[in-house]
Amino acid sequence: MYKATIGMEVHAELNTKSKVFCRCKNSPEDEPNTNICPVCLAHPGVLPVLNKEAIKSVLKIGVAVGGKLADFTEFDRKNYFYPDLPKGYQISQYKYPLVSGGEIAGVKLTRIHLEEDTAKSTHKDGDTLVDFNRSGAPLMELVTEPVIHKAQDAAFFAKELQLLLRTLKVSDANMERGQMRVEANISVSKDDKLGTKVEVKNLNSFKSVEKAIEYEIKRQIEILENGEEVKQETRGWDEVKQVTFSQRAKEEAADYRYFPEPDLTKLKISEIPEFSIEKLKDELPELPWDKRERLQKQYKLSADYASILVSNELLGDFFEDVANLATTEKQIKYLANLIINDLSNSIEKEHFKSEIIASLLVISDAVVAGKISSNRGVELADSVLSFKLDKPGVEKFIEQNSQITDENTLKSVVDEILTEFPDTVAEYKAGKEKALMFLVGKGMQKTSGKADPSILQKLLKQSLS
Ligand SMILES: [Zn+2]
Repeated sequence: MYKATIGMEVHAELNTKSKVFCRCKNSPEDEPNTNICPVCLAHPGVLPVLNKEAIKSVLKIGVAVGGKLADFTEFDRKNYFYPDLPKGYQISQYKYPLVSGGEIAGVKLTRIHLEEDTAKSTHKDGDTLVDFNRSGAPLMELVTEPVIHKAQDAAFFAKELQLLLRTLKVSDANMERGQMRVEANISVSKDDKLGTKVEVKNLNSFKSVEKAIEYEIKRQIEILENGEEVKQETRGWDEVKQVTFSQRAKEEAADYRYFPEPDLTKLKISEIPEFSIEKLKDELPELPWDKRERLQKQYKLSADYASILVSNELLGDFFEDVANLATTEKQIKYLANLIINDLSNSIEKEHFKSEIIASLLVISDAVVAGKISSNRGVELADSVLSFKLDKPGVEKFIEQNSQITDENTLKSVVDEILTEFPDTVAEYKAGKEKALMFLVGKGMQKTSGKADPSILQKLLKQSLS
């Protein structure tokens, strides 16, 4: 029996206003080469200046995941040549990462550090174009311990990390746009000794993370089963063919000749007041996993509903605003269904108004009390959200269209129908089931569609048996 072992490496672009070592606007997607200066173009003689906000973002992540913040930290030069790296080295962190340890989704973290992003090369018609807007953008690198054993768990870890980065508002973490880049280190072995690890890159969605890891595990097992050896290398993921492919043999860490960056001061984090753990903790918003638990408890929501509300901040806030004014558990349950299943695509910032919330509560009261059908409820809510119906309008509609659920009233309707349609009654008694629906239809007609059809049907059946 083979066992797969997976470690994750995630880079995320931090959304600070300026780049990490110069004052250029940090906006990689602007018109190419518009956010550039001598520092991020690596002109000779320029000096980097550290952006404290970028440090703070990484420390915030560290506090949120329960990691240990560095007391002493410094930056290092990671030397390698690449056309999108004009300095010939990347300023990164090697020996003293900002954060050590911590945990996300049950996955133990090794470290989280800060580095600069490279420029971006685009290959087009045989030419290579380089856009330096991204050069020097702040980048968080997070590395996990090799403690994951299933592709699904790896994808879940990545999802939770994205949710955290977004909750902390330190990164937009959009995978398709390269704001969050996930790599997986995968090995398989039959015993406790780790096998040769292969790094898989170009994972642009959670689905690719899962599929690529599944594929890679299978590929490596096949190699071993054939009596061959797995090569240590970097592989890419082909989204179309759904296979991994060899990119290059893996360099060892020593190849980079790391050494401390002489142009940046070393930092004693504990001596910088704005980086005190207490202060960082105070500034932390409610974390996604805590919020999920609270929503389930406070509103008796299912785990799925709580997850949806946590991953969609606007929807979650709206639900809470409405649910906090609901008076019964039944009402909250109805509102959760309504907001998550029927209104999730329509809720906007402009809907956070007491008038709208009050209208939705009137609707929920009416549906829960059986005065209007839940379909009617959705229609009314849609009209409220599109500002076609105000609260008095909702109340008037409900008053005029309330379902008749009173059995005595409906009983007399049933009696009328039975005398008016003796032939149909006879057909039903002779075994023609469909005749019943005809009679229900007549009842609906008589009440201008206001009768509760299920009660009407029940009463008809009772009278006919
Ligand atoms: Zn610059």
